[in-house]
Amino acid sequence: MTSRRSFIRKGSMAFAGLSMAKYSSASFSSQNENNYPIVISTWNHGLPANEAAWKILSEDGHSLDAVEAGVRIPEADPKINSVGFGGTPDASGKVTLDACIMDEKGRAGSVSYLKHIKHPISVARLVMEKTQHVMLSGKGALEFALGNGFKKEKLLTSERKSAWKKWKKEKRGFSNEINVENHDTIGMLAIDKEGRISGACTTSGMGYKLPGRVGDSPIIGAGLFVDGEVGGAVATGTGELVMKTMGTFLVVELMRNGMSPSRACEEAVKRISKKIPDYENHQIGYIALNKSGVYGSFCIQPGFNYAVKTKNKTELEDAESWLKTL
Ligand code: ASP
Repeated sequence: MTSRRSFIRKGSMAFAGLSMAKYSSASFSSQNENNYPIVISTWNHGLPANEAAWKILSEDGHSLDAVEAGVRIPEADPKINSVGFGGTPDASGKVTLDACIMDEKGRAGSVSYLKHIKHPISVARLVMEKTQHVMLSGKGALEFALGNGFKKEKLLTSERKSAWKKWKKEKRGFSNEINVENHDTIGMLAIDKEGRISGACTTSGMGYKLPGRVGDSPIIGAGLFVDGEVGGAVATGTGELVMKTMGTFLVVELMRNGMSPSRACEEAVKRISKKIPDYENHQIGYIALNKSGVYGSFCIQPGFNYAVKTKNKTELEDAESWLKTL
């Protein structure tokens, strides 16, 4: 059986190839202050997502609308196997989705363990706007979505079903093994022309997770955190490590105390390395954006990249990593 680390190696080489062939790569950017509008998002599926967000930002729209529209692109794309329609199912063959959204005023909405709805991010936004709550889960989240006009859809594609059947046959039971092929949340942060920051995060979670498992992505302060006076951060990777260290809340607090987005992401990864004994077997990637529009990133393993879009830039950038080799 191929080990998880060699899976990561293969995945990251593929990503590295893509970023070198198609896009210029720069680990850290020298940016001007007040560099907005800007949108950044995790992994290479962030490129088309950023384009959709940019359409709204460039027409002087609100960053909340931009991040929602942005992440709806991978949610609807059946070829992206880690988000929305076409997402990898849990161990029982069911696709269950997690998502959250937050704006510059500190308003937040979230859904977890949501089945049959292609755009969990839009349901999360409605939870934020129409209810007194932050998070709805499972059956209640589905009923809320259906009651608000969302359609029940089949999210498991025939490709994902075959892959799941193969996994089941080979593994003969549950496995929580993860790798870059089966977990790649999209997390997005944007600042609009008025300087308002918002964030969104959406995922089908770890492939073949235990039924009922919820990761970091719908949890405010873990998968996503935004503070309009400071900035925002989003996470991708093994959610359990992010949840145990409240990763994105930590990144934002470190920025509040004066760290740059890159340094704050690095510190949050270091925290994981101190607190989680087997962190070397996992990938975590953080991206962060401060309220001036300066962004940064950091990850555990080489191979995490993220998409950046400004007036002058459309790029996929490689994040610096804590471990230098795989
Ligand atoms: N963070 C997600 C989860 O644990 C997966 C990922 O980002 O790859 O569900």
